[in-house]
Amino acid sequence: MSFPTHRPRRLRRTEALRGLVRETNLSTTGLIYPMFVCSGSKVRQEVSSMPEIYQQSADQIVEECREVESLGIPGVILFGLPESKDPRGASSLSSQGVVQRAIDAIRKANLRLLVITDVCLCEYTDHGHCGVIEHDHQTNEATVANDATIAILAEQALSHARAGADIVAPSDMMDGRVAAIREKLDEHKFENVAILSYAAKYCSGFYGPFREAAQSAPQFGDRRSYQMDPANAREALKEVALDLEEGADMVMVKPALPYLDVIRAVREKFEVPVGAYNVSGEYAMVKAAVQKGWLDEQRVTLEILTSIQRAGASIILSYHAKQAARWLNHF
Ligand SMILES: [Zn+2]
Repeated sequence: MSFPTHRPRRLRRTEALRGLVRETNLSTTGLIYPMFVCSGSKVRQEVSSMPEIYQQSADQIVEECREVESLGIPGVILFGLPESKDPRGASSLSSQGVVQRAIDAIRKANLRLLVITDVCLCEYTDHGHCGVIEHDHQTNEATVANDATIAILAEQALSHARAGADIVAPSDMMDGRVAAIREKLDEHKFENVAILSYAAKYCSGFYGPFREAAQSAPQFGDRRSYQMDPANAREALKEVALDLEEGADMVMVKPALPYLDVIRAVREKFEVPVGAYNVSGEYAMVKAAVQKGWLDEQRVTLEILTSIQRAGASIILSYHAKQAARWLNHF
């Protein structure tokens, strides 16, 4: 392979040629738009660290879902902002909970959108951890209890399925939660509700803006005892293997950009659809730089989303989904 016989620039000469040999074609079909639902009606409050992303009541969620559908985006993922919090996240189980009512409202609006729900406790607990707190009998330190938590998560997933969710997405990183959720769903004849597991969720600084949006910052300690250490990649493969064994239909890596190698490794090793969450901090960094005039938003956003797909994710959860769809559809 040597010059002048080989001239790679030959295939970059025109847009038609570049299109012909393009290896990754980003489209709206793999995009999922995350949304934050609160109680009340006519509520639409912008999240200060995430421009153009809102905390909104179910009626407003439905309005934005119409727009999402019209842009060709196949689905949304819902996060709940409950009216009341307690140590066990009880409001996450109620048929009248914020997420359950939003699903119902989307269903009644006859939208074809896939409705995915985030299954976790951190938005619903007063301490902000993803599970219930127990005192370790050896050290007497407060710790997030694994087995007591997964029983609650299974109930939460069931209540989302009852409300009409297509896919439930556990994000808590407790061990054994996928099996507990699958068993509970099947026991109640929701065998067709799929599980998208946040299989490799890292303990990341890039979640900062989300915690403002979802009001879910831990009140003490951090999440290092259940979310993954950013330094580990092989461990992600173990987490994915366990979740698939337990019955996950699809798996996700979160965040996306700092973990493209992990997305690639998961894509190569497993035969299931791989998702990636282009998280709040990744979105906020772009928005902040764009506001300062330092970056071209369209160009860098499409480049970021393309890189996530190129790494191996066929499903991309992104706060930029709507804007990306407009750019991709040339609206
Ligand atoms: Zn959580």
